[in-house]
This record gives sequence, C-alpha cells and structure tokens, in this order.
Amino acid sequence: MKPPMHVAKENEVASIGLPRVPKQDEQTAVLKKLDDLRSSMRSLMVMLENCTKCGNCAKQCHSYLGTEDYHNFPAARADLMRRIYKRYFTWTGRTFGRFFGADDFDADTLSKWLTYFYQCNECRRCAKFCPFGIDTAEVTIAARHILSEIGIMPKFMQGIAVNMNKTGNNMGIPQPAIVDCAEFMEDEMREETGLDIKIPIDKPNSDILYIPSSADFFTNVDTMIGAAKLFHYLGVNWTIPSTVLEAANFGLLFNLNVMREHNQRLKAAATAVGAKLVIQGECGHGWRAAKAYTDGCSAPVSFEIVHILDYCDQHLGKLPLKKLPLRATLHDPCNYARAGEIVEQPRRIMRACVENFVEMTPNRDENFCCGGGSGILMDEMMEIRMKLGKKKAEQVIALGKLDYLAMPCSICKAQIPVVMKYYGVDDLMMGGVMDLVGKAMILGEA
Ligand code: SF4
Ligand code: SF4
Repeated sequence: MKPPMHVAKENEVASIGLPRVPKQDEQTAVLKKLDDLRSSMRSLMVMLENCTKCGNCAKQCHSYLGTEDYHNFPAARADLMRRIYKRYFTWTGRTFGRFFGADDFDADTLSKWLTYFYQCNECRRCAKFCPFGIDTAEVTIAARHILSEIGIMPKFMQGIAVNMNKTGNNMGIPQPAIVDCAEFMEDEMREETGLDIKIPIDKPNSDILYIPSSADFFTNVDTMIGAAKLFHYLGVNWTIPSTVLEAANFGLLFNLNVMREHNQRLKAAATAVGAKLVIQGECGHGWRAAKAYTDGCSAPVSFEIVHILDYCDQHLGKLPLKKLPLRATLHDPCNYARAGEIVEQPRRIMRACVENFVEMTPNRDENFCCGGGSGILMDEMMEIRMKLGKKKAEQVIALGKLDYLAMPCSICKAQIPVVMKYYGVDDLMMGGVMDLVGKAMILGEA
C-alpha cells in the first residue's frame, strides 16, 4: 500500500533535525515512542482502552462519509494504534493476540498509519458524539508525532517546517518582502480611505503583538486590512513581528516539538517588544496551538493571548460599522468551535456587518470540517481533499443563493474555495470575518 502523498526523503527530514530511523529499527522505535506517549499522555491510554465499537462516530465523520473507506471510520482509524497498543502493552493482547484485537506492528501497519492518520482532519467531531468522549483527533496527533519522530512525514509538512525555521512563517517570506507587502496594503487603504493607516512591522515598545497568517500578506490581504483598520480606529500601539509572521503552527499537526519551537518564537517576539497582549489572527489550529500550548506546554509567558475575533467582539459596540447588503453565512472552523471557544464572537461581528446573516446546518460545535483541517492541503491529495470536503459543500449548497461565505481560518480559506468550485458553486464571495469588518467600517472620506 502506497500512502497518497509524497513522503519526505531522509536528507529532507534531517534538515529539520528529525533523522530517519533505519528500516530495520522502525518497529522498535515506534514502540518506544508509543510507550513514552502512553506514560506522559494518560488521556491517550484511556482512549486506546475504551472503545465499545458502538458505531456512533461513523456517521459523524465527514472523512468516512466522503471516502466510504473503512479505515476512515473513526473507531477503525484509532484501532490502527489501539491494536498495537494492546499487542505490546496489555497482558491480554500479549497473550491472546488477534483474539483480543491485538496486532503486530509491521510495514503494512506503518503504511496504514501514514495513509489514514493523514486522512483525519483532527476536527474532533467524532469526540462530540462518542458516548465516552473518545477523541480520535488526539490519537491522530499522537500517531503523526510518533511517525515524524522516526523521520516519516509528508514532504509538504517538512517543507513548511523548513520555512518556519528559516523565516518564522510557512511561506518562507523574508523580512524585506514582508515590509514591501505591508506598504502595498497601506497604499491600498490610503487610496480607499484617504487615511494613513499603518501596518507596523517590528516596531519596538509595542503594547500589542499581532500574529496574522503569512497568507494574509499575499492571498488573504482583506483579512489583514480588516485587522489594520480595527487597530487604527482603536488607536492602539501595535506591531507585527517579522520573526513570527505566522498564526499557523504546523508543529501541532505533525510534531509536537516543532510546535513548541514556534511557540518559543512567539514568546521571544512578544518579550522583545514588551507586548502585554498577543492577538492571534484568523487561523484555527494556530489559535489552538497558541492558546492551549504556549503557556502550559512550551514556555511560561507574561502576556495574555486573545483571538482577533474575540478582541474585535469586545470592542464591537464602539466601531463605526455600516451593514453591507449581503446574505452571508459562517463556516465554524473546527478548532474554534470544538477546541477554542470562538463561537458567538464571529456571529455577533457578522450580524453587525451584514444585512442578512444565515446559519448553515449543523453549526457551532456540530459543524462539519472543510476537509482541509490538520494541514491536509497537499496538491497530490486533491482527490481525497474533495471527498473530505463533500459535507461542507452540501451544507453551503443547502442554503440557496448566498453572497458571502465567511471562513475565518487560513486552512479553510485554502480548502473551501476549491471544494465549492469542485461541487459547482462558482459565484460566491469567500473570505474571513475580519474582511467584512474592514469593508463595513466607515473611515475617512470613503
Ligand atoms: S462512538 Fe466512541 S465508543 Fe462508539 S465506536 Fe466511536 S469511538 Fe468507539
Ligand atoms: S477527528 Fe474528525 S476527521 Fe478525524 S476521525 Fe474524528 S470526525 Fe473523523
């Protein structure tokens, strides 16, 4: 069985400090890593021990529904690790083997791990509907971490880690290009409003550090412009660090040590300018990595971390907003709705910015993933990505004629437009929630 994505080569994984374990040592190395994780992550052990195979999660997983592949049934996916855990770490599994759902770890298992743990979007919808709260996303995170620790990962993830190390952002944008892009956006805003709205880069002694996605400097500039207008109107002292021009943190998606390194960069950047507040831009998993893991897991910090949509919502009452004549809906990014407590804030903001806000069904913490979550954005996986995005397309199409689809996460912004086109929707504006704020805010002469 061949995994459906390009796998990083030995020299490539070595470039990010994760040397490839020789083939003959893979089994021992995987078992050692699994042993380490089951000791340090008790929740993982509980999830591996407690599935009754009731089947509830099957119809809740868009990955299984879209691909109809048995191994994408959440319980079957987790079983890829559960059977190994039982075989090597439980008495019944060691003694009775397959009769007790235990399997040897071999080359076929390794290949299945690489295939199916990269067809899980880590969306956590299965956990919401499991009577025991079994969170297959956590099993997926653990499996991907183990694989990367022995030097096996998609080339796509490795490439992003190289860029993160070199430049502090996924796209590998160097500091001079960041400044150029900021000036370009400043010119755009000057032309539109007649005002001198700044996007300050590396400004010392700033109260607020804003961490956008690097994509907000190229493909999602309206999201960046919306945030800049908000800060301008509020008159706050803010900056963007060129060393962490990235709300995304792909480490959470394939290697927890890589995640910690990026969180350390965030801490260093905030400390360097003396920021007391770090505001994370529109990125789902990046929000989870920053909020849940910076202080407790990566580094004690002396600043508060809030999300841009939370921050905007806190100031909503004083913003000069006009309602745009749009029928608009919101896609809830999974890491906001099921892991990040960003649920009502985007709704309040959108209701203030558009004339007609409508909900898709289901929504909030029952929302379906876009199919790109957990960084499955590889071109070579396009066919699978479209299957994973099927439920999302159905949700949007069921709403009838829409003018705007808000998807306040960079991964969703990369995935959903392709999915919508694939399923025949090509006359829909799509972007972030901050994009709407930027367009609805009455500033200057415009
Ligand atoms: S819903 Fe929970 S207990 Fe039931 S099969 Fe899925 S993971 Fe297992
Ligand atoms: S986390 Fe999401 S994609 Fe992964 S198994 Fe659960 S429902 Fe499916």
